[in-house]
Amino acid sequence: VYTKNIYNGSREELVEKVKAALSDKRFQHVLRVEEMAIKLADQWQVDKELASITALTHDYAKERSDIDFLNKISEKKLDTDLKNWGNNVWHGVVGAEMVKDELGINHEDILNAIRQHTTGGVTMTKLSQVLYMADYIEEARDFPGIDEVRALAFKDLAASVGWQTAHTLAYLVDKQVKIYPGTLLTYNAWSVK
Ligand code: GDP
Ligand code: FE
Ligand code: FE
Ligand code: FE
Repeated sequence: VYTKNIYNGSREELVEKVKAALSDKRFQHVLRVEEMAIKLADQWQVDKELASITALTHDYAKERSDIDFLNKISEKKLDTDLKNWGNNVWHGVVGAEMVKDELGINHEDILNAIRQHTTGGVTMTKLSQVLYMADYIEEARDFPGIDEVRALAFKDLAASVGWQTAHTLAYLVDKQVKIYPGTLLTYNAWSVK
């Protein structure tokens, strides 16, 4: 039960809003991220209600059209360079504005965690690190090294952030896609000794 009035409604009501915005497949992912985020929150003394709300809303905007994101970038006067990117970057950075405006969630730590959930950030709160890792290691994720990074997330949260960032960067380079500068800044801050 939510008691902090961060979201004006129950968890069940928030779940319904998110479910309505997403395909069933992505909605199921969101529920698994919530489950993992609460486990990590427990381990790292992060508030579980914050972890739940953050996880449930992290991909809220993922299925929105490019036009929706471009309009929101203009409306909220976000950095115009954002217009050069795409859904992967927008659904977190711009999606946080939709979570704020459409779901009425104004908690800045939650919004920043959503903004950072794809690319990370140089400065990340515990909550932000928890979401970043929960999204990556939720129950259904499977890739080489998953067991290692799952264990690491419960043993050394910051090290696991560095692990994810390094592996994602290598994956993106291998795919020869554009690297968002924020991703490189996260790599320099968290993945290099
Ligand atoms: P999801 O929304 O649960 O699927 O996961 P994420 O939001 O974490 O990531 C969405 C996609 O963005 C993934 O395919 C990542 O590999 C990709 N991604 C992460 N960083 C970057 C980046 O710097 N550039 C590009 N082009 N894609 C990225
Ligand atoms: Fe995402
Ligand atoms: Fe992620
Ligand atoms: Fe996700």
